[in-house]
Amino acid sequence: MTNSYRIDNHKLIFHPQRVAQWQADNEQWDTAKSIYPIYLEISPVGHCNHRCVFCAKDYIGYKKREIPYEILKQRITEMADLGVKSLMFAGEGEPLLYKKLPEIIEHCENVGIDTSLTTNFAIVSQEALEIYVKNCKWIKVSLNAGNAKVYSEIHRTKEEDFNKVLENLSKAVSLRKEIGKGSTLGAQMLLLPENSNSAAELAQISRDIGLDYLVIKPYSQHLSSNTKKYENILYSDYMFLEKELEKYNTETFKVIFRTNTMKKMTNKVERYKKCGAVPFFWGYIMSDGNVFGCSSFLENPEFCYGNINENSFQEIWEGERRKENFEYIKTTMNAENCRINCRMDEINRYLWELKNPSPHVNFI
Ligand code: SF4
Repeated sequence: MTNSYRIDNHKLIFHPQRVAQWQADNEQWDTAKSIYPIYLEISPVGHCNHRCVFCAKDYIGYKKREIPYEILKQRITEMADLGVKSLMFAGEGEPLLYKKLPEIIEHCENVGIDTSLTTNFAIVSQEALEIYVKNCKWIKVSLNAGNAKVYSEIHRTKEEDFNKVLENLSKAVSLRKEIGKGSTLGAQMLLLPENSNSAAELAQISRDIGLDYLVIKPYSQHLSSNTKKYENILYSDYMFLEKELEKYNTETFKVIFRTNTMKKMTNKVERYKKCGAVPFFWGYIMSDGNVFGCSSFLENPEFCYGNINENSFQEIWEGERRKENFEYIKTTMNAENCRINCRMDEINRYLWELKNPSPHVNFI
């Protein structure tokens, strides 16, 4: 069941037509410009009610700003027409603080775009929750401890938020039961020395609430983050947890321990030299409306293609600034220097192999 989520893997194999378009058209700008992303992440607001100790986007500064509702709605309609298939609302801020998010989620459903939320889930009204559970494909809650004390230290918030989040998760599970269908519901712990002792507690809680899964994932140093405290964590020291947490698995609940990702860090697995994913298969829209080709380069002008407050999505995606980034990635950038285990890492490994096949691939 959980394997179908492919959380420790990638899902580009389910889009062979887009991959075929990329294989045929990615070398020349005239053809490459119309390869549209399958997936984008959107940060509808810049501010956040928490200050997690590991936050990769701390350098952006949690600015109080948001994308105007009408603009966002219009651009989403355009994206659907251009071939975008899914949007994850997450970001440099807490997405549920965007007041019109329920309307945006319903709009995505109406235009045929799948949605998901990555959220701390501390603040959500009953009305909004119903819309999220009914429409989102999945909701993943960033829940980085198994008890209130450690939670408050890691999220740098009040202890009572821990219980609020658990309550909201219980409500979501009940709502889904009532409706008879709805979002996949999961939690995620970013494994740190400070919370490793409470991973088992969190697995038990997540299972008892009725969640579908708990992801345990490693930290990955964002190259621009202010925080560098965790850049040298040795995940080989925590591999034993995989076995320990397995005992919480049931028919309907799984702990997804991201062994593959942890091993890539521990064993320093060789990586591709060129990024195939950017500027093609994904993108990121910040709360000021700027569109970036990669979330590891937010606020880097070389990866900024334009602003949705000023131009249509098509103008931005087929525009001069993306063209420059296309040339830069093709001719200059060495992806070996990028963030380790970046969001597109598995996709890049797949694309690299497609471009550099072994001599045996015809012996299927
Ligand atoms: S961080 Fe990853 S997705 Fe971004 S440009 Fe580098 S290799 Fe590509």
